[in-house]
Amino acid sequence: MDGSDLPALEPSLIAEKVRSEMARVFVERLSDSVLSAPLGLAITGWLLQSVAGWTPALTWICGMAVVEVMIQSVGNRFQRALAQGNSTRGWVRAQCVASGLLGLGWGSAVWFVWVDGQMLYYLAVLCALVGVSGICMVTMSPQPLATRLFSLGMLAPPLVQLLWVDNPLAMQVGFGWLMMAAVQAWTARDLHRELARETKSALHNKDLLQQLSRTTTELHRASAQMEEKNTELAAALGQLEELVSHDQLTGAFSRRYIFEQLDRLAAISQRHGAPVTAVMFDLDHFKAINDTYGHPTGDRALKEVVRAVADQLRDGDMLARVGGEEFLVVLPLTGLGDALQLAERLRQTLALTTVAVEGGGVIFLPASFGLAELLPDEGHAEWFNRVDAALYQAKEKGRNTLVAA
Ligand code: GH3
Ligand code: MG
Ligand code: MG
Repeated sequence: MDGSDLPALEPSLIAEKVRSEMARVFVERLSDSVLSAPLGLAITGWLLQSVAGWTPALTWICGMAVVEVMIQSVGNRFQRALAQGNSTRGWVRAQCVASGLLGLGWGSAVWFVWVDGQMLYYLAVLCALVGVSGICMVTMSPQPLATRLFSLGMLAPPLVQLLWVDNPLAMQVGFGWLMMAAVQAWTARDLHRELARETKSALHNKDLLQQLSRTTTELHRASAQMEEKNTELAAALGQLEELVSHDQLTGAFSRRYIFEQLDRLAAISQRHGAPVTAVMFDLDHFKAINDTYGHPTGDRALKEVVRAVADQLRDGDMLARVGGEEFLVVLPLTGLGDALQLAERLRQTLALTTVAVEGGGVIFLPASFGLAELLPDEGHAEWFNRVDAALYQAKEKGRNTLVAA
């Protein structure tokens, strides 16, 4: 999955998130400014008392402190509303109003220092205000309305005063004050745009990361499910292979499987010049057992035959059920002489093997045997036919006997 497949964020939702995030940054910066505000107040207050005396200076400082406390308290309430998931619009508006009052407070400082002929003090206070205003523009950049109201508030008292005073120097200072305000408004606008862009992209990235993490979790879950399915499939495949390669009733190899092995073993033995012999046996008069004692007894007899024969075989020998009561034993690395001995042992074993029947008696399970060793240039089908013919001869000879081809 590439990024373009991820659903895009709702634009109105982004705008709302950006607004809320910017208001949060604004409040955070204001609470940080709690430390720097007293310094600004102290410097400006000291300038005021130098010109106008302690009473107006302290009055101004107290008024400003009240506004500062107000703006911090509005900020706290905003943060609480944000944390609780409540609407913050009202508190954002209150922040803007408080910012306007703050600007007005700072601007009003010049009223106290206007003394005709003391232009130097007046300019010093204006310079202090320029500094304060610059800092506030940066602090308030996340909230453009607060920035504008603060500028207007700060601009108003000096401008009103300078326009009112009939003094050419005052007019020039007023013009300079206006220019400064215009530059700061411009800078504040740029700062705000930059911050909005950054906030938007940070929110978008956060959202993408969340989606990515969700998709990864889903992928892990799907992969775990797939692994589970694979395990089930492997188990089912194993069962299927077992079904194909083994006879369900007796557990001996199936006809299909032994014929595949016959072909393979014939090729390997001929390539290496190694002997291999096949022995086929068929239970004698088995139909009579079924007819007399029923099919289930016949089934038990077939199982018992396989158990008894398997007991006599070595590792590597293969026993398969190739017909209803016909079995094939393949003996790799075994010549006809050894195979004859084994076949005779098997014949004797089966002749003595019994199955209990209802009523307390037992039945014997004799069989006839035919065997042949693979010839050097013989195909596996011809080999099997010779074994089959030998078995037929054993039946012809009166059963419970063996014939080698
Ligand atoms: P013969 O000595 O000539 O081999 O005689 P037979 O009765 O053994 O041979 P025949 O081919 O006439 O009968 C084989 C019987 O094997 C017939 C059938 O009912 C039985 N049979 C084949 N498959 C099964 C099986 O899966 N279960 C049981 N119980 N009997 C089976
Ligand atoms: Mg038979
Ligand atoms: Mg038969």
